Amino acid sequence: MEKKLFKDKAGNVHFGINAPDGFVPCEKADVEKALSKIGKRKLWRCNVCNDLHLNSVPPKICPTCTTSDAYVEIGLQEFRTVIGI
Ligand SMILES: [Zn+2]
Repeated sequence: MEKKLFKDKAGNVHFGINAPDGFVPCEKADVEKALSKIGKRKLWRCNVCNDLHLNSVPPKICPTCTTSDAYVEIGLQEFRTVIGI
């Protein structure tokens, strides 16, 4: 299945086949907005399935591959490259 972009009401972002509870589908423009206002939040990548997450903390359980504690912090360029933006 194709991975899609999701956001929550606080402007956090997830990229994956599935997303955590509270996240709804969004557009690339929403991701750019989140990246421009990242503040003290961080970028994360699941080291099993490569889902991405923008938030202060990553998902405890990956919504796509269901692995626990699989997220590692990454940089902006890697985040953009995986999404393709
Ligand atoms: Zn995963």
